[in-house]
Amino acid sequence: DVASNGEIAEEIGTDSPPASRQPAIRLERGGKSFGIYPVFQDLNLAVKPGEVVSIIGPSGSGKTTLIRSLNGLETLEHGVVYLEEKPFLAGSKEKLAKSLRHVSSDALRIGMVFQNFNLFPHRTALENVMIGPLYHKRASASELRQEARTMLNDVGMLVHENKYPHQLSGGQQQRVAIARALAMHPSILLFDEPTSALDPETVGEVLRIMAALARSGRTMVIVTHEMKFAMEVSDRVVFMEKGRIVFDGSPALLAERRREDGRLAEFVRI
Ligand code: ADP
Repeated sequence: DVASNGEIAEEIGTDSPPASRQPAIRLERGGKSFGIYPVFQDLNLAVKPGEVVSIIGPSGSGKTTLIRSLNGLETLEHGVVYLEEKPFLAGSKEKLAKSLRHVSSDALRIGMVFQNFNLFPHRTALENVMIGPLYHKRASASELRQEARTMLNDVGMLVHENKYPHQLSGGQQQRVAIARALAMHPSILLFDEPTSALDPETVGEVLRIMAALARSGRTMVIVTHEMKFAMEVSDRVVFMEKGRIVFDGSPALLAERRREDGRLAEFVRI
């Protein structure tokens, strides 16, 4: 049986990483507006298997819209999202739209963690983690229950398995939300400002889990304002400003560029 000491695992088990180095997910020439205001145009982003990419930048620069476009929570007007180089989503104005735009089982391969947790309020922590796999009949109920308990244990939440979201702190709810995302065995994890809604004292427990996931070889795209975390944990940092990617490179390169680029220096304080 899984241990229930409430501690956060150092490394969190992952499905074996894909051998290929083709992008796990790639946005090609993405374009999106709200009304007449373009958020971004001709935006390109590719993330390789096992890569951890943090997206940073001022408020309103399009980070959230970008990450939500990667799994279809926002519909692009232009562009194509590829999963392992296979077309997955296409913009509504794309000529190919009809043949590409679909809700497919591929969507299940992308896990998402939201700023406001989005747990089901009338379900316990354990039920929140089990609900997706049960619905998709991934295995027998008893197997899924055992697996969900393992996932909760990995994020240090097994001791709270029978509690409802309102009985948990923000950090605890977010840890359950991470376990829920992992329960679907996603090949990619998207995080949209996962610590922005948390009390300062619970931010660390969520960042520690994300760091453990990063170390275990997960493919992760993270919109975050946690600069220290982004610099320490990411393979790549993408800096967005007014809908454009103005920097895309390693944390080391960003630290270097910061010295000569006023815009970066202003934002990237660590
Ligand atoms: P960021 O995540 O970098 O703060 P967002 O992607 O949330 O930026 O927002 C980019 C721009 O799109 C902002 O100007 C924001 O006001 C606008 N925007 C975002 N969502 C909507 C929406 N649902 N309707 C209208 N405008 C939106």
